[in-house]
Amino acid sequence: MSSFKALVLERDGGRPSAVLKDMTESDLMDGDVTVRVTHSTVNYKDGLAITSKAPVVRRFPMIPGIDFAGVVEASSHPDHKPGDHVVLNGWGVGETHFGGHAERARVNGDWLVPLPDGLRPDEAMAIGTAGYTAMLCVIALETHGLTPSMGPAVVTGAAGGVGSVAIALLAKLGWHVIASTGRRREADYLRGLGAAEIMDRAELSGPARPLAKERWIAGVDTVGSHTLANLLSMTRYGGAISACGLAQGMDLPASVAPFILRGVSLLGIDSVMCPRPRRLAAWQRLARDLDRDKLSAMTTTIALAAVPETAEAIIEGKVRGRVVVEISA
Ligand code: NDP
Repeated sequence: MSSFKALVLERDGGRPSAVLKDMTESDLMDGDVTVRVTHSTVNYKDGLAITSKAPVVRRFPMIPGIDFAGVVEASSHPDHKPGDHVVLNGWGVGETHFGGHAERARVNGDWLVPLPDGLRPDEAMAIGTAGYTAMLCVIALETHGLTPSMGPAVVTGAAGGVGSVAIALLAKLGWHVIASTGRRREADYLRGLGAAEIMDRAELSGPARPLAKERWIAGVDTVGSHTLANLLSMTRYGGAISACGLAQGMDLPASVAPFILRGVSLLGIDSVMCPRPRRLAAWQRLARDLDRDKLSAMTTTIALAAVPETAEAIIEGKVRGRVVVEISA
């Protein structure tokens, strides 16, 4: 049986460490579809998993990588046949089930979606779980009935992965986008993605007042904690914030004032267990609504061996935009 390369998180008593190893297909976990992984990514959650900054990985050894794109090699699942191009996001892959940082993955075929028409596998992973989550956030705002004519949209963690894709999507859809960032030096990058205004994240990172001056009708928040509390307190009457992240913290030191006095809504976004119809819709929208030049401008490509150092960098807030991991040709 031929061997393949995999990044493996091993725990030998102390802190887990990531090692590049040779494995065989018999080492893979159960599943009805085996995929030759061509591309994966490094998301914030991969950073947490690989650096052990949070207990993302629930069993060891583990192949990290919460998402991948690749080609079906073998399948007993009715929806997938050898040669099909597929994408996977979430479902505990890279946490409890071997993930995408390897040349092969074996998974439950129900977890896979087809690579959307018009997207290349590397583009799908430039989008990755971060970009697919940004799309879920934007769809939630639209479903709430919000439109660009009602006012601006704010995006926090703007220079990160979810933030960068959210800005590009909202700008393409006609929104006036306010980008909140701690990296002022990235102002030109953010304007290039479509941000109309740049805001220093320090304005949002301290304790929030119950209500503050109304500034936006919609928002995508990747940061949580005081930042999300401030976002809510500054949301216009009837507006909504899609909350997907915790880069500042998991707490939410907010008051109910925006909800009960301004009718503001907080829309929770989960990408991991998101039902399949919503996933398919999000990927179709990404294929249609995400400007490919902007996607390429926000993307850096690395090799599998560089994943551990990139995982450290993403947790330190040093990665701009998205990272594609080239796994196999
Ligand atoms: P990135 O690391 O790429 O982006 C996070 C950004 O947050 C940073 O670039 C930085 O932006 C900002 N940031 C970091 N630390 C702080 C801080 N202390 N205070 C304020 N802002 C900070 O991560 P991703 O974009 O991949 O993910 C963003 C968040 O969304 C993460 O918390 C992740 O876990 C979550 N997520 C959730 C998903 C879900 O299903 N709900 C799916 C995908 C992601 P800047 O430098 O511009 O200030």
